[in-house]
Amino acid sequence: DLTDPVLASEAELAFEGALRPRSLAEFVGQTRVRGQLQLLLTAATLQQRTPDHILLAGPPGLGKTTLAMIVAHEGGRPLRMSSGPAIQHAGDLAAILSSLVPGEVLFIDEIHRMARSAEEMLYLAMEDFRIDIMVGKGAGATSVPLDLAPFTLVGATTRSGLLPNPLRDRFGFTAHLEFYDEAELEQVLSRAARMLGLAVDGEALAEIAGRCRGTPRIANRLLRRVRDYALVHGRDADVEAVRAALDLYDVDALGLDRLDRAVMQTILTRFGGGPVGLNTLAVSVGEESETIEAVVEPFLVRIGLITRTPRGRVATPAAWRHFGLAERAPEGA
Ligand code: ADP
Repeated sequence: DLTDPVLASEAELAFEGALRPRSLAEFVGQTRVRGQLQLLLTAATLQQRTPDHILLAGPPGLGKTTLAMIVAHEGGRPLRMSSGPAIQHAGDLAAILSSLVPGEVLFIDEIHRMARSAEEMLYLAMEDFRIDIMVGKGAGATSVPLDLAPFTLVGATTRSGLLPNPLRDRFGFTAHLEFYDEAELEQVLSRAARMLGLAVDGEALAEIAGRCRGTPRIANRLLRRVRDYALVHGRDADVEAVRAALDLYDVDALGLDRLDRAVMQTILTRFGGGPVGLNTLAVSVGEESETIEAVVEPFLVRIGLITRTPRGRVATPAAWRHFGLAERAPEGA
């Protein structure tokens, strides 16, 4: 998982599962989205119908999967989980859709990566709870309509811009998840520390909260690294332990990981501060442009290290300062 300074292990994934809030009330931050979802779910319950389809957009680790689980859990509905890359053919989707039980919540992660043919099947399914199945081949092929149980689709994407309009339009509600602020991350971390049985003081929590890319998943993983560090060195999980552990894992003072830094170094030193186009940047750091655009860039923009211009990405004065470099003289000076 490139979104993360620390690779995920089995134990880590299990821990992540155990840490997921189970209700909207337990879900930290995203106040607006939470209120909107609450209204949508309550209205559906009052009208005894399945909630509208929901699209969750935003960088990895901000709580999309968690919210999908909450939508199912709050309504007492079963949940089916799938993902775009697992749906290679319309048949894969037909198999899932035709086996849904009434009221089921279908979560499709990375929905922008689903096969085109499946996307088209999904339009009709979302709108009319119906699909057309092709039976036979060649001239004798016929399409047979099949009624589906009413369901709620929860789609997640890191790039809502990549979804075709007809698909985007069929969601009753789209939520754009934002990076979390430090106070919210401290809440996430205190809860995780309690569950780990780890004593961490406020200063140490604040230090982690300031260095986790505004992302709960990263906050929780960093906390585990700090726990390891304290354990191995037989010391408290205080701010010194946090700094030592995060240095060891190459997380810098702003929470930038190796890929973030590679991107910044490329813009600053190879391209004199920019502008640099997305594809050039991706090739230079040896990463897919989708990852740069969906994972790296949103955070660098949010903390003010780069700006997006029509000609490409440009480093800000704060970026030159953070990397201890002298800013290039403006062109023509
Ligand atoms: P995404 O699907 O957007 O990649 P997840 O829903 O898998 O993100 O969230 C990753 C982890 O971060 C979860 O296991 C959960 O512990 C934690 N998390 C995410 N959002 C929140 C939140 N709002 N409050 C508390 N924990 C959260």
